[in-house]
Amino acid sequence: MKALVKQGPGEGLEYVDIPTPVPERHDVLIRVLRTGICGTDLHIFDGNPWATRTVRTPRVVGHEFVGEIAAVGPGVGGLLPGQLVSAEGHLTCNSCVNCQADRKHLCRAAQGLGVQRDGAFAEYLVLPAESVWVHRPGVPLDVAAMFDAFGNAVHVADAFPLRDRTVLVTGAGPIGAMAVAVARHRGARLIAVSDLSPFRLDLARRAGAHLVVQAGEQPVDPAALGQEQGFDIGFEMSGNPSAQSDLIAAMAHGGRIAALGLPDEDVPTDWSDISLRMLTIQGISGRKVFDTWHTMADLLDDGLDLSFAVTDHFAAQDYEKAFATAARGDAGKVILDWAPRD
Ligand SMILES: [Zn+2]
Ligand SMILES: [Zn+2]
Repeated sequence: MKALVKQGPGEGLEYVDIPTPVPERHDVLIRVLRTGICGTDLHIFDGNPWATRTVRTPRVVGHEFVGEIAAVGPGVGGLLPGQLVSAEGHLTCNSCVNCQADRKHLCRAAQGLGVQRDGAFAEYLVLPAESVWVHRPGVPLDVAAMFDAFGNAVHVADAFPLRDRTVLVTGAGPIGAMAVAVARHRGARLIAVSDLSPFRLDLARRAGAHLVVQAGEQPVDPAALGQEQGFDIGFEMSGNPSAQSDLIAAMAHGGRIAALGLPDEDVPTDWSDISLRMLTIQGISGRKVFDTWHTMADLLDDGLDLSFAVTDHFAAQDYEKAFATAARGDAGKVILDWAPRD
C-alpha cells in the first residue's frame, strides 16, 4: 500500500510502498478515505526539535482520518466491514491510575497515532477496536476526516460554561475557528478573535465571531472592543507567546482561560498578575476521549455547521503541495484524498 512516511531526521516525508498492516485479534483494519493535516504533522514534516525527539523513524504519520472498516479481528464484536469510522488519536495504556479510574484523557503513557505508532496517512491502517469511533449517519466526509481536531475545539469550548459570557480567542486556525463555532452554539454573548492572518480572521467570522482583531496591526485591547472590564473566558489556540500575554492581559478579574496552543519557546509568566486577578488557566490536550466524541456528534445532530473549516483538498501523492498550503496562514483545514467512498 501507499503511505506517507517520515524516514529519518530532517525535513520532509516520502510517499512510498509499504506492506499493508494485518489486524490482530482485537484490531480493526481500516481503508482510509480522507485525512486531515494537523499542526503536529507539520512539525513532523519540518523535523522540528520536538519531532526529532519524539518520533522514532521510519513512521507512518497522521492521525486525523475517516475510513471504512475493511476487516475485523476474530476477537472484535460490534464492528462490521463497511462502517464509516474515525478513531481517537490518543491510544491509552489502560493500566495507569487515571486509565483505571476512567480518566483516560489523563493517561500518562498515551501513544499518539502517527507519532509513537504508525498513523493514518496511508491507504490502510490497523487500530485496536476500542479506539474506533463509528460515525452517525449524515456526517459529511470532510467533517468526519477532521473529527479529532474538532474534538480539540469542543474540549476547549466546553472547558467552562459560555452562555452569556464574553470570549476572547487568540488564534483562528481550523481548531480555533471550530471552537468559535461551538462557543456561538453554546450561547456566548460576544466572541472576539485575534490572529495575524486576515484569511484566518475571515474563517473566524464565518464561524460566528462577532469581532476580529488583526494582531500585529491593532492592539488586542479589551476597552477598544467594548469590554472595559475584560473578557470572562479566553481560548488560547495560537501557541504564540505575544498572543498568550495579550490574552492574560485582556481577561477580567476572575477570568478563565482554556489553553491549547503550544509555544515553541519558554515564555516568561507573571505569576503575581495571575494570582492578584484570580485567573484560572486550564491546560487542554486532546479530548476527554469518547466523552468528547459523543458531544461532537450531538453538536452536529443539533445543526452545528463546520463546512467553513475545510478550505483545500489534495490527492495524497500531492502531499508536498498540501503541506505547504497547510503551513501558510491562508488556509483552514487541508484534506488529503486517499480513496473515494464505495
Ligand atoms: Zn490533530
Ligand atoms: Zn493510562
